[in-house]
Amino acid sequence: MAQLFVISAPSGTGKTSLIHKVLEEELASKTKLGVSCTTRERRKNEEEGVAYFFLDEDAFNKKLDEGSFLEHAKVFGNLYGTPKDWVVSTISQGFDVVLELDVQGAIQVKNAYPEAKTIFIIPPSYKDLEERLVNRDQDSQETIEKRLSEAKQEVLSGKDFDHLITNDNFNLAFLDLKSVMYSNTDINEERQALTKKCLSHLLDQ
Ligand code: 5GP
Repeated sequence: MAQLFVISAPSGTGKTSLIHKVLEEELASKTKLGVSCTTRERRKNEEEGVAYFFLDEDAFNKKLDEGSFLEHAKVFGNLYGTPKDWVVSTISQGFDVVLELDVQGAIQVKNAYPEAKTIFIIPPSYKDLEERLVNRDQDSQETIEKRLSEAKQEVLSGKDFDHLITNDNFNLAFLDLKSVMYSNTDINEERQALTKKCLSHLLDQ
């Protein structure tokens, strides 16, 4: 039976890179990544229909009214939605589907499809997250502060997802994600203990 994976993480945690790395694996040959619609401006390196389908607000709202989205949410002031028909038809053709969504979207999908596996990726600490946001050189200091305070809210929702992974080290987090998606064994105990410790530290901040 094809599976639906919904993966979320605070902005800057490395979710996109981890997902792309897992999708390069032979094990992922029957897995497809969903392409969402968004009203956000296209970034320089993004291709229409590959990164997103870029729509203006009227076109987005028309699709919303037509019931075309499996879920939708406003994230950092822009609208995002997952095309429902594509998800349903891809799964019915036997492909696993990965959706990379914010926490609000992930919760909506889990409510509609309880069999979906929700995966939340956490940074080892907010200090580490801040460093990554600064180093990726994409946002102003004001935006970074907004993203950090948003991250705290996201961790409160994401802590109840089916699986939690800590991105303290890219290769180890990649192995954790691969095992959650493609093996029946859970993440090893040492990694689970680390995640428990990091989560408790994030919730205390
Ligand atoms: P970005 O604009 O940086 O690509 O994404 C911003 C946030 O929106 C990320 O957390 C991303 O996972 C989330 N996102 C992307 N597509 C969708 C979608 O279709 N629905 C929801 N709810 N969130 C999305």
